[in-house]
Amino acid sequence: MTDTFLSGRTALVTGSTSGIGLGIAQALAAAGARVAINGLGDQAQVDAALAAVRDAGAADVRHFNADLRDPAAIETMMAEIDAWSPLDVLVNNAGIQHAVPLAEMPVGKWDDIIAINLSATFHTMRLAMPGMAARGFGRVINVASVHGLVGSVNKAPYVASKHGVLGLGKVAALEYAAAGSRDSGGVTVNAICPGWVETPLIEPQIEARRDGGSRDDGVRALLAEKQPSLRMTLPAEIGALATWLCRREAHNVTGAAFPVDGGWSAQ
Ligand code: NAD
Repeated sequence: MTDTFLSGRTALVTGSTSGIGLGIAQALAAAGARVAINGLGDQAQVDAALAAVRDAGAADVRHFNADLRDPAAIETMMAEIDAWSPLDVLVNNAGIQHAVPLAEMPVGKWDDIIAINLSATFHTMRLAMPGMAARGFGRVINVASVHGLVGSVNKAPYVASKHGVLGLGKVAALEYAAAGSRDSGGVTVNAICPGWVETPLIEPQIEARRDGGSRDDGVRALLAEKQPSLRMTLPAEIGALATWLCRREAHNVTGAAFPVDGGWSAQ
């Protein structure tokens, strides 16, 4: 039987119309949470994500369509979610990537990557965390990347944003460390640092390594470069870790960064 320990709790997962965010939203739904999803996409994609989260067992699910490049839109979304149901679990997952050498990086790409991957995380945290502290329970889970721990060529804004997410999370973890109690579950802030995960985000990088071969050839080449396990992670596997971090008994797990990278960052 599924353990619905998040019954009565409300979660927001940013960027959950696709990929890892959708996997996390489904995992939190299966644990009984009410889930706010967010992300871009046409109505069909939003409807499909809503259905997937509902089918996973969500107590309730709604889509909030803020464009996370816009701080005013984030403020509106956070107020709307608070009016719907005060937030217990905040998963900052939305992110974009653009891989070209530093000197060729379009300035607009730098601005968008920093805005979505880093600044939006700051905005949602500053708006959500005081309420979590007042209620004695809160979970902030930032989906960073192995690129929050190490660098790679051609990813200057991405690597900068993900290192920033880890620093931001450490500060928030310290500021909120004493909120709540063991019984209430406390307020924690952690980062998940995936290596390669099967999602649309990495398709251009797979495509660039096909070398005339199949998609599987591109995947093998991508894994061989960095990920010693030679296995992709699935979004549901990130969802399982995120869900565990929400448990009451994880009250003292805070300020941490969890690599899920097949040994990439151990090299
Ligand atoms: P994805 O492209 O499948 O999903 C990205 C999500 O972010 C989508 O829902 C999209 O609509 C949303 N989004 C993009 N721009 C937005 C905006 N302006 N406003 C609101 N939402 C926006 O990507 P993914 O692979 O699932 O990535 C999710 C997170 O995981 C990202 O932060 C990414 O950096 C991180 N990550 C991914 C991998 C990987 O291998 N896929 C590895 C490490 C880290």
